[in-house]
Amino acid sequence: MAPSNQDSGQFKILIAGGSLVGLGLALAFERAGIDYELFEKGDFAPQLGASIGIHPHTIRILQQLGVWRDIEKQVIPLQHRKHYDGKGHCFEDSHVLVEIEQILRRPIIFMERCKALEVLQSHVKDKSKLHAHTAVVGYEETADGVILSTQDGKQHHGDILIGADGIHSNVRKLMAEKISAKDQILAKQINDAFTSEYNCIFAVSRNDPENQFLPDAMVHNVYYDGFSAVTAAGVHGLVFWFLFVKNSELTTTPNCPRFGDKDAEACIQMYGSSLVGPGYTVKDLWDARVKATMVPLEEGVISQWCHSRVVLMGDSVHKATINPGLGGNLAYEGIARFTNGLVPLLKANPKPSLEELTEVFNQYITGQMPRAKTVVDLSGQITRYEAQDSWILKFAARHIVPWVSDGLKAKLYASFSKGGPWLEYLPLPTMDLDLAQVPAEPSWSISSKLIAGTAVVGVAAIFWQKFRGPIDSLF
Ligand SMILES: Cc1cc2nc3c(=O)[nH]c(=O)nc-3n(C[C@H](O)[C@H](O)[C@H](O)COP(=O)(O)OP(=O)(O)OC[C@H]3O[C@@H](n4cnc5c(N)ncnc54)[C@H](O)[C@@H]3O)c2cc1C
Repeated sequence: MAPSNQDSGQFKILIAGGSLVGLGLALAFERAGIDYELFEKGDFAPQLGASIGIHPHTIRILQQLGVWRDIEKQVIPLQHRKHYDGKGHCFEDSHVLVEIEQILRRPIIFMERCKALEVLQSHVKDKSKLHAHTAVVGYEETADGVILSTQDGKQHHGDILIGADGIHSNVRKLMAEKISAKDQILAKQINDAFTSEYNCIFAVSRNDPENQFLPDAMVHNVYYDGFSAVTAAGVHGLVFWFLFVKNSELTTTPNCPRFGDKDAEACIQMYGSSLVGPGYTVKDLWDARVKATMVPLEEGVISQWCHSRVVLMGDSVHKATINPGLGGNLAYEGIARFTNGLVPLLKANPKPSLEELTEVFNQYITGQMPRAKTVVDLSGQITRYEAQDSWILKFAARHIVPWVSDGLKAKLYASFSKGGPWLEYLPLPTMDLDLAQVPAEPSWSISSKLIAGTAVVGVAAIFWQKFRGPIDSLF
């Protein structure tokens, strides 16, 4: 069968995966007038119990894409954060989220991921480009493009393929297979790049307005030895919550565990009686659940992100633990970095050569890789900090971090957020017009690494001893 669209002559991008990254790319390409076709294995906005925290630098991109207003009206920006020990004692009462909003003029918000995906999908004007229930099963490269095979037996021709198909990426697996013909060690490195040491139950539960677990706009964190939990009330009537538990062993992809309902129930049996905030336990949240899912928390960054005409983005290439809520935001930085290179290239040359495309891929990777390594590394630190993985982290949580001012934590976070890119080919919101005068940050300094980790949870003190100089230089 002849691949569809083979002879249109127009540059076309094939996207595998239609979640946060796939739909974000679809919007970015549509706004830039670039042809694409997107293939999603399942539904576009499934309810898995997942939530997503969206940070100020991502909000700027969503404003540029014209979708922010529809998200904004669904959420209550997070304002307060209280940190508890297992006895219900609050050892840190933080207003850092308010301070962050004051500095950056945008809030941090938290919502159901399926609702965010619904908004993204609803803003794609030409829905005929979006193919649900159409898994990508294979691809072949030709002299001038890529032929993609989907599970329905069809083939699709494009100029490049983007693997935005998540941590279990099939495109990554297929790419590694092709690489293995010449370099088996690299292929193995790609397949084995992620480890998992923590498991997580994530869920959406009802937050009965008459008897709330926690007030709207509030976040509760509780730290135990070897496990931790978070609740966030970012949407009226709902609470998003997470139980993070250290695993007995470290596993590596592709052998990280998969969990089902029975595993989640067994985990709740073990940890259900633990207090999360004042007067409510993990089990109370579980009993009020709308939907809950248990997953391993993979973490890692793969060493090779592209091969010939195929490039990976989002969780398929960098996966962070979810405690500070940075993985999806990092992925949106990748969308900006990639499209900022591709859009001008296609304007200058509507049918670029493989060499020109490779240059764009490399530019995206050079910009995104250091930031990805920082976010993945420090997200992992935060997961371990919250689960009190060592006595140093426990000491920092109880006796150092609470004494670091919210002002400093907000300032550190703001420096991190300000390092995020935007879409250079779309107008900036009026409040950001000054950004156009300032060149985007090319790379990360050591102080920026530090700043990423301190995002929101205020882990500044963990690194206080290590990187005193960069912190001091902020004053
Ligand atoms: C519970 C939870 C909470 C989180 N909270 C935050 C947060 O607060 N802030 C934050 O920034 N990040 C958060 N993250 C991380 C964030 O959700 C991910 O970084 C983000 O979803 C990555 O997007 P993605 O599109 O790369 O991958 P995914 O969201 O995993 O999407 C991959 C898509 O590809 C599809 N797919 C898979 N295989 C194929 C195939 N063969 N063909 C076609 N399609 C395929 C899948 O069905 C899926 O729709 C959280 C993650 C979890 C699990």
